[in-house]
Amino acid sequence: MMSEQIDSNMVRLIIPAYNEERTLKRNMETLAAILDAAGQEFTAVLVDDGSRDATWSVICELRRADARFNGVRFSRNFGKEAAVFAGVAEALRLGGAEWFAVLDSDLQHPPQCIPEMLALARESGADVVDGVKRSRGSEKGLYHACASLFYSGFKWFAGADLGRSSDFKLLSRRAALTLTSFKERDMFFRGICEWMGLRHVEYEFDVADRTGDTSRFSTGRLIRFACSAALSFSVKPLYFAFVAGALFLLGALLFLCFGLFLYALIAFTGGAILFVLGVLGAYIARMYSEVRGRPRYILERSVTDAE
Ligand code: UDP
Ligand code: MG
Repeated sequence: MMSEQIDSNMVRLIIPAYNEERTLKRNMETLAAILDAAGQEFTAVLVDDGSRDATWSVICELRRADARFNGVRFSRNFGKEAAVFAGVAEALRLGGAEWFAVLDSDLQHPPQCIPEMLALARESGADVVDGVKRSRGSEKGLYHACASLFYSGFKWFAGADLGRSSDFKLLSRRAALTLTSFKERDMFFRGICEWMGLRHVEYEFDVADRTGDTSRFSTGRLIRFACSAALSFSVKPLYFAFVAGALFLLGALLFLCFGLFLYALIAFTGGAILFVLGVLGAYIARMYSEVRGRPRYILERSVTDAE
């Protein structure tokens, strides 16, 4: 087999997009203009995460206008994490590049940072450059509070500090290959990047305001996302349930000695059992979903150089 020509100046961008018809074209034109002006060679893989609007037509239109844009489309919405992994896999399939950058389609991750991240990777010899939020853009009060709560919880459960971390990352070819070697179906991109343990450096950036409209993540989705991330990274909730169960049993014993609070006791034990069952259920559901081994996503269409 002929060895693949690797262009070390070229960055392949991985950009997930969900229902972005209104802003995608303009944003991608802005991105291309910024990178061209900076003399940064790039190609992009846009992943349409099963949008219900005309995002896919916009992607096809972008590709016709500028062949550096490649696109793949999911058969339905599989979520941003799946879109990032699909994008990395496609970008590797296109071959020829040493660097891969993951960024949002709404320009909240400023493209002008990419050449600096690349320079940082080269001088430090790191495989992963983590975009770290200096400020958190236009996050609203309650959202900010929930996000902080989630990150401190995650730190306790999984031992990784993700508070200022983001999905804005530059990956070396080695890091991208490692990432795609994971077989887990339900993955948490930021967590996995940290877990790989490859040499990484931080790069501080200011989160820009979202262009056009509002976040694609509803509160319900964020809560589900937070639970899934915590479960995928730790079995501590299992121990937690065990300890809580033991404490409740001890409490029950004390109550019994005093012959008091019978009803409270019943409620308490019932609560403890339900709680433990809930935690077990969460892990079992997760195992069930992993054990089925379904594909992480289904591609329905693609317009790429690989065809
Ligand atoms: N996104 C996606 N699938 C989803 C939700 C979002 O691919 O199910 C994309 C979205 O189009 C955007 C990026 O993920 O490019 C970040 O989404 P958003 O800006 O809505 O999230 P936030 O900035 O609030 O984290
Ligand atoms: Mg955003």
